[in-house]
Order: sequence, then C-alpha cells, then structure tokens
Amino acid sequence: MATIISIVNQKGGVAKTTTAINLSAALGAMGKKVLLVDLDPQGNATTGYGYAGAAKKNLENTTYEVLMGEVRPAQAVLATKFKNVSLMPATANLAEAEIRLLQFQNKTLCLKKALLQIKDSYDIIIVDCLPSLGVLALNGLCACDRIIIPMQCEPYSLEGVAELLATVKRVKKSHNRNLQLMGIVFTMLDKRLTVNREVMRSIKAKFPEDTIFKTEIPRNVRISEAPSHGEPIMYYDPGSKGAEAYNLLAKEVAKKCKAIEEML
Ligand code: ADP
Ligand code: MG
Repeated sequence: MATIISIVNQKGGVAKTTTAINLSAALGAMGKKVLLVDLDPQGNATTGYGYAGAAKKNLENTTYEVLMGEVRPAQAVLATKFKNVSLMPATANLAEAEIRLLQFQNKTLCLKKALLQIKDSYDIIIVDCLPSLGVLALNGLCACDRIIIPMQCEPYSLEGVAELLATVKRVKKSHNRNLQLMGIVFTMLDKRLTVNREVMRSIKAKFPEDTIFKTEIPRNVRISEAPSHGEPIMYYDPGSKGAEAYNLLAKEVAKKCKAIEEML
C-alpha cells in the first residue's frame, strides 16, 4: 500500500510544484510506482508533466471531478512519458471545489476517500498542494501519511512554517492521527547569500535534526526551464546540479518510506 506524501506550504513560489514534479520523477526512475496528484487549480504539475495548452484544456477527468464524486479516481489517472509515474491532473475548474466542498458533510476527507480506492496500485503517492490553508489544502493534509515542507530561506519563512505546523497539529488531532512531518527541504538555496545562510541556521536550531532533509536544493536555472519543456529535470538535463539534488532527495524520501512500511 502506498505511502501518501503531501507537499505543503501555504506560501506560493517556494518550489512545492517543482519538488512534487522532480521528486516523483526521481522516485519513478528508482523503480517506485508513483502517482502524482495535482491539487492546485493552477495545474502547474500537470503542465510540468507535458499536459499544456489544448492537451490540458481538453482534460475531462481531473482531480476536481474525483473530489466531486463524478468519476472514479482510476478514471482520472493518466500515464506519463516518464518511467513509473502516473498523474491525476488538475485544471482551473478545481478552484470551484474550494466553494463546492463546503457543502459536503465530510468536506476535508474527499481526497482521502478517493485515494483509498487506488492506494494499493502504487508505492508512493505525492500530492502537490495549492498555496493556501483552505478546504482544498486541508483535503491534502487529511489524505496523507506524511508532509514535506519546501522552504525558501527568507526572513518570513519561519513564521509561515510555524503557522503551517499549528494547522498540521489541529488536523492530526481532529482528522488524521497518523499525520507526521517527513521533513523540511530547503529550496532555491544560494549559499552566497548571507540571508539564506542565516535563516537556514536559525531553522536548523529550532527543529530536530531528523526533520530536516540533508539534501538542499540549490537555485539552478535548468530547474526553472524544465517545466516549459514538459519534462522533469532529470530528463531535461540529467547532468545538472538540480537533477543531482532531486535524485538525492528521492533517495532520502525512499529511505523514510521504507522505515514507515517496516513499522506497519
Ligand atoms: P510553488 O509550487 O510553491 O508555488 P513552484 O514550484 O511553482 O512553487 O516554483 C516557483 C518558481 O521558482 C517557478 O518558476 C520555478 O521554476 C522556480 N524554481 C523552483 N525551484 C527552483 C530552483 N531550485 N532553482 C531555480 N528556480 C526554481
Ligand atoms: Mg505550485
């Protein structure tokens, strides 16, 4: 049965989607059967996997229809060109879910219910959450076993993460007692910048060592180019620093998933 990992941070532009795309590709390349669930109306993970323009617009079965109970989850899963990675895509209509879900009785548990139906077909399910702590993002928190928090080392980052972890604590109490932080991953890091180094130091001082991934993702222009080519970084430029970093992160994640399986 799959370990479900949600990539969350209510702040936008911290590399959630970049991490979701590249981590799933790297885990797939390692031989894990991976499903990437796009839980953001911007649908950037969908685009990053090559469904752009008309191909994206014409998608009929997406995360939205799954959450609304209009199609079975398996019907919305697409194959990708990349080894072992399947995709549940999202388009702009997912924004309506934020309103429509409020009328549902178990409004934060719709994604969990859906993923339960297909969990056995994968080793790892990665959920790319939208930048918010609204009902849609809460579905991402309620559905998963672990969260990964991508974080840029900037002055306000720590406050954001503190707020997020308070929400995680509430969700753990009310809906998902197994929920745990898998780790914080530093993204877009430029160690030449004093501010990056200082914020990183203060975060490391606040969190236990095993809750921060050893792999740091450097700022790398090839990473930012890859999505417009519809390819994860390890296919777009396998020799880049970015590909190397995401491969190492995938190894750490696979190790932590193995430890979870062994606990069960
Ligand atoms: P989020 O999903 O948290 O909103 P994205 O993954 O979309 O963030 O990333 C925001 C922007 O930063 C994108 O343009 C992306 O290409 C860029 N980016 C992410 N990670 C890196 C990196 N390591 N180096 C350079 N650019 C990056
Ligand atoms: Mg995103």
